[in-house]
Amino acid sequence: MRPETRAILATTHTDGQYGSIGTPLYQTSNFRFREPGKSTGYDYTRSGNPTRHTLEQVLADLEGGASAVAVSTGMSAITTVLAHFNAGAHIIATHDCYGGTARLLRLLESQSKLEVTFVDLGNLAAVRSAIKPNTACLWIETPSNPLLNVVDVAALTKLAKVYDLLVAVDNTFMSPFFFRPFEFGADVIVHSTTKWLNGHSDVVSGAIVSRTAELGERFHYLANALGTTTGSFDSWLVLRGVKTLAVRMKQHEANAQAVAEFLVSHPLVSEVYYPGLASHSTHAIANSQFTGFGGVVSFRLAEGDVRGVLGSTKIFSLAESLGGVESLIEHPATMSHASMAPELREAAGITDDLIRLSIGIEHVDDLIADLEQALATVTPKTVVKEAQSC
Ligand SMILES: *Cc1c(COP(=O)(O)O)cnc(C)c1O
Repeated sequence: MRPETRAILATTHTDGQYGSIGTPLYQTSNFRFREPGKSTGYDYTRSGNPTRHTLEQVLADLEGGASAVAVSTGMSAITTVLAHFNAGAHIIATHDCYGGTARLLRLLESQSKLEVTFVDLGNLAAVRSAIKPNTACLWIETPSNPLLNVVDVAALTKLAKVYDLLVAVDNTFMSPFFFRPFEFGADVIVHSTTKWLNGHSDVVSGAIVSRTAELGERFHYLANALGTTTGSFDSWLVLRGVKTLAVRMKQHEANAQAVAEFLVSHPLVSEVYYPGLASHSTHAIANSQFTGFGGVVSFRLAEGDVRGVLGSTKIFSLAESLGGVESLIEHPATMSHASMAPELREAAGITDDLIRLSIGIEHVDDLIADLEQALATVTPKTVVKEAQSC
């Protein structure tokens, strides 16, 4: 069966008692024992809960992994995976990873718990030369945020395996609908299910999916020991979101591609970042490893004040985060990436002229019209851009 069908089936046939079509919500902290020492399979919700378990099975299935554990946030997922390593282990992480991941890695390094090197994973030679005897993990996130650079996960895992590194992939931006990192050699996948997997902007949650049963057991153990597992109601909401992942992702992508093409043709826009554009610097890698290009589009204004655009959209909400059915617009330099040191931000290309969009599932003509009227509020001193040749 295809993922579209499996996502529905796995969330529908879960109630052996009454055959409810909706997934039962076990909103309970604990469970009655059958007799002393003999539980029903569940005793306490931090350790296990049937609603959360259904979500875990669905996520493992969608990623093609052996098992999954659903945790309270994307950062919980990352915290739990990093807790796998002994003190002094060395982690190589992508230099443009999610800000929260970078902050956590630096915290753990400052406490002498881990050693960390941030490397441009687009440069295999740089990754190879960063590997040390104590290197234990390669932390991949692709595409990057907000410039959507895609790295070659197959080549990276091939290199990592030579040195016996655990390969972790943060697959939040693509979702399992567009990218399945296990097929490219990854060992563990983390998600902020807050984003596309839930898709309705009403939950913060996360997940860890493991390729092998052995790693899966390890992360179940760690999530229970650390207390990072998520509650039943949030699990139930994410399950409801996952049922429509396929239709949502197809629409997000179709809308994003059309918005990206509209922006390319706009005289006030100097650059557009979307991996689905043939002009994107990593389009070829994206095309070879993803089955779609996702719903995030970033662009630069050639001229004028970005604040005018950010403040004039009527459909796009000015908000951080991404992955919901509703379109969002934000300013990375002062919002999602404000906690980055200014010189690092500058070096990463996250300058004041950059705007990031999370494209929702509204009608694409309305989205384009909204951006068109917002861009019309910009009064360029001199429009320097030459006529587009397309
Ligand atoms: C949002 C996000 C996270 C963190 O997830 P939370 O649910 O906010 O804790 C981690 N990685 C990526 C790529 C994200 O976009």
